[in-house]
Amino acid sequence: MEMKQFDIVIIGAGPGGYVAAISASRAGKSVAVVENRRVGGTCLNRGCIPAKAMIHASSLYREALEGGRFGVHAPDTSYDYAEILQYKEETVDRLVGGVEQLLKAGGVTLIQGTGSLQLPKDGMNQVRVIGPDGEEDMLSAAHVILAAGSRPADLPIPGADLPGVLNSDGLFALDHAPESLVIIGGGGICHGLRESGHKSDHPGGPAQTSG
Ligand SMILES: Cc1cc2nc3c(=O)[nH]c(=O)nc-3n(C[C@H](O)[C@H](O)[C@H](O)COP(=O)(O)OP(=O)(O)OC[C@H]3O[C@@H](n4cnc5c(N)ncnc54)[C@H](O)[C@@H]3O)c2cc1C
Repeated sequence: MEMKQFDIVIIGAGPGGYVAAISASRAGKSVAVVENRRVGGTCLNRGCIPAKAMIHASSLYREALEGGRFGVHAPDTSYDYAEILQYKEETVDRLVGGVEQLLKAGGVTLIQGTGSLQLPKDGMNQVRVIGPDGEEDMLSAAHVILAAGSRPADLPIPGADLPGVLNSDGLFALDHAPESLVIIGGGGICHGLRESGHKSDHPGGPAQTSG
């Protein structure tokens, strides 16, 4: 199998990986990025951007509902959750496309597949890539950057595997707005979810627990 040579191979095309790739290519390095899902990682596909899109839509709805006290009346205000999801998907697609363009314009080679480190050979790092259809690539580079991110932890909370208990990935995958929501935890992700829930029109609103 032909070995493809680069100065730098990066595993993961989230904000860590794609920013490193663009910077390295601007510095004149030959760069390959290996990604097994979509470019943009958690932030663009399942994190910051979908959360902000949902918060924006729910903010508009809340402002329309409360506009009366400012003399702004929108009596027929309603929302269509399917359209909000479509807006979220379009926003994500546009930004993922933008990052793909930046990588292409920078001459970065994007390789679809799952990367793993192999034993170094002749003083060079080796990365094996298994593509979506099982095809294999071997990459060689002086430097490898691991930017593989993280995934939601399976929390050691009794009942965490019961039906209706979701992490943020599951919440964004819902095709309907939940009637009520209890959020366990009080970190940054919780803050974003709480914000979008607060601005929805559900009577229960979100409750948050921490500690
Ligand atoms: C709901 C939510 C909201 C968030 N909101 C914010 C926010 O408002 N502001 C903020 O700063 N941060 C926010 N974050 C956090 C932010 O998403 C992460 O900090 C950021 O995505 C981390 O970037 P990364 O490149 O390190 O990893 P990731 O974005 O996780 O990217 C890693 C990539 O590597 C790929 N990968 C992993 N293993 C391999 C392999 N072996 N081969 C090939 N590819 C591989 C993955 O598929 C993934 O695409 C939020 C997160 C969530 C879940």
